[in-house]
Amino acid sequence: QQAAAPRLLDEQSGPEVLQQLDTIIFDCDGVLWRGSDTITNAVEALHVMRQQGKRLLFVTNNSSKSRAQYVKKFQSLGMQVDSSEIVSSSYTAAAYLSSIGFGQCLQPGKHVLLLGSQGTADELAAAGLQVLDAEQLQLPVLDSVDAMLQMQLDERIGAVVLGWDCLFNYQKLVYASACLRELPGCLCVATNLDHADYIGNDRMMPGTGALVAALQVASGVEPVNVGKGGAWLFPYLLAKFQLQPSRTAVVGDRLDTDIAMGKQGGLVTLLPLTGVTTMQGALSAASSEQPDFIMPSVAALAGLPSS
Ligand code: PLP
Ligand code: CA
Repeated sequence: QQAAAPRLLDEQSGPEVLQQLDTIIFDCDGVLWRGSDTITNAVEALHVMRQQGKRLLFVTNNSSKSRAQYVKKFQSLGMQVDSSEIVSSSYTAAAYLSSIGFGQCLQPGKHVLLLGSQGTADELAAAGLQVLDAEQLQLPVLDSVDAMLQMQLDERIGAVVLGWDCLFNYQKLVYASACLRELPGCLCVATNLDHADYIGNDRMMPGTGALVAALQVASGVEPVNVGKGGAWLFPYLLAKFQLQPSRTAVVGDRLDTDIAMGKQGGLVTLLPLTGVTTMQGALSAASSEQPDFIMPSVAALAGLPSS
């Protein structure tokens, strides 16, 4: 069945849609900010929605920060957000492993090998998980075949978590793929599969998905994706926040993560044109990723001008 074409929202029609909603799930980069610049009237839009008693949630695939670090980032941009409203993929990596009993009933005493940021390490530790990173493991320099053959794996490792890691390299790839191939039952978790993201304002950089692709090809193991676009996240959000799908919207700029998650969960889906997707791209999306509404920016939903 053909999906209805997306409707265009502007600052006049936005509030009619907002009126139908109790909960709004915001993607962050490309919706509220782009790099370090706030989207015009995003601060004011959140304010309007809070004044109307809407419940706001902030769900980001960016694993570089912990929820505590995000609270500070929001604050620095003039947005007051509580950490209980933030669901970052640094946190969902920890929530996923806890939900399956990793380190407790499932593989008691096992450690997580993290290739990622301090923010993800902090979230894993806050969930009571034992974390090892490449530095702690003092990975050997793999400059010869002998060195590769002699490399010893730490047998305490029961899961590899791969998040955004700007120091990702061949050595880490060798070690993590060897863990997945050689340690019995070793799990693989990816914080997200974003192909490329704006890092800063203008330059597209390889996203975590590019690193995950390397590990997947090298190990032959398909990771569990705990970010938007994966199968695990929406049921988790539904249960955790007791969402009522028909009264919940997702506002996101990426078709294969934000809009796909909204469609998967039967949410109202809104795509602002302030991020990675163009009007042309949104209109030609596959039906599983076609937003219900396209709007110039998040401001329109609150009845505010976008520039
Ligand atoms: N991952 C990284 C490393 C990023 O820099 C970004 C955006 O800047 C994202 C993921 C996507 O984040 P979001 O889901 O908030 O758009
Ligand atoms: Ca985004």
